[in-house]
Amino acid sequence: MKVTFKDCWYPDFDNQLLRKGTFFIDGDKITFKEPVGENDALFTNALVTPGLFDAHSHVAMDLFRGIGDDVSLDEWLNDYIWPLEARLNDDYVYWSSLLACLELIRSGSTTFLDMYFWEKATLKAAKEVGIRPIFTPGVIERPGWESALERVEELKNLGALVGVGPHALYTVSMKIMPEVVEFAKKNNLFLHMHLMETASEEAFIHNTLGKDYLKRLEDIGFFDVPVVFAHGVHFSEEDFDFLGKKNVVVAHCPQSNMKLSSGLFRWDKAKNNGVKVGIGTDGAASNNNLDFIEELRTGVLLARGVSGKPDLLSPLEALESATAVPAKVLGLPLGEIKEGYWADVVVWDESDISMVPVDKPEDWLSHIVYSSGSQAVKDVFVQGRWVLQNKSFVGINPLEVSDEVNKRRQSIRKEDIL
Ligand SMILES: [Zn+2]
Repeated sequence: MKVTFKDCWYPDFDNQLLRKGTFFIDGDKITFKEPVGENDALFTNALVTPGLFDAHSHVAMDLFRGIGDDVSLDEWLNDYIWPLEARLNDDYVYWSSLLACLELIRSGSTTFLDMYFWEKATLKAAKEVGIRPIFTPGVIERPGWESALERVEELKNLGALVGVGPHALYTVSMKIMPEVVEFAKKNNLFLHMHLMETASEEAFIHNTLGKDYLKRLEDIGFFDVPVVFAHGVHFSEEDFDFLGKKNVVVAHCPQSNMKLSSGLFRWDKAKNNGVKVGIGTDGAASNNNLDFIEELRTGVLLARGVSGKPDLLSPLEALESATAVPAKVLGLPLGEIKEGYWADVVVWDESDISMVPVDKPEDWLSHIVYSSGSQAVKDVFVQGRWVLQNKSFVGINPLEVSDEVNKRRQSIRKEDIL
């Protein structure tokens, strides 16, 4: 596929500015040299950004949206989510993932970093929608836990991007963690783990591993590979200082943290210590949607609210967190409009009410972060594939997906889990 973006505006993170120029999609890559062949599409003077990168998700949880809305994380997991998950199967996960992939694409996300089960069903759904999943099958210490590592290999053989997902320090002890880390190192894969999400988790970690738990992880080689930590709400100053020196990105999930009353992530402290921050939607059961633009806005507003610093992050920096930052940590050619990078491109609707007015192009950056929403996402390309065309999904009927997911919600919930 050849797509021309003529005289379009796009963010240049290296120089921290909005640049005007002409570039192309050639097959599945971005190039600045005009490829030969017929144009499949032409955008002129448009505002474009790289595809957004959801750095922490559980997409199949769309099926549980709105269940257990008013309880704490512990109660939510024990009384609602885990009993429901015990009933899941490929069919539930497939339809729920389809719904989630549509939600993500609609808000400009082209990549999601997922931790869950039944990944092959999610992979099938993602392929149909055209979004890029990165799978980190969740390791939970119980008999047969090794199957998660087998699934990593299986998914890799199917051509999917993968990492290793020790679920959390309260579900994976230091008894098996060295083996999990060794597997990641041996296979050159990154690690993805929930960490310091709640105060009770903080107490548990400090009691079992000590306040220098990150050093304990370092001692077993945890930081010898790239790392994604989800949440990090209860990191101490010492933790931030430690993480600033490592190839780590913290996936900040502001809406999930606030909805579960888990606490407020300190983006200001992360930034002061050089810790890289990405944005994650977490699952729809604790969010309750996967609107990535909304998530980004919440994250930035929250950072300003808790820090008292209105100049903490520029809109461009915020957008970089939502695109290039996690991609760089994982070493993927993604999240930037650059020669040879994977062609994930979002074309914005500058005439949408939320994107008006502008008197200089930089106003658009502010509008994306502080004003816009899914309604301003017009076209989305993932690896050169046109998956959202003038606000319509390509090859998928969202009404059919909604219908099928509704049927499955009725059959999985039954009367016992209210
Ligand atoms: Zn999570």
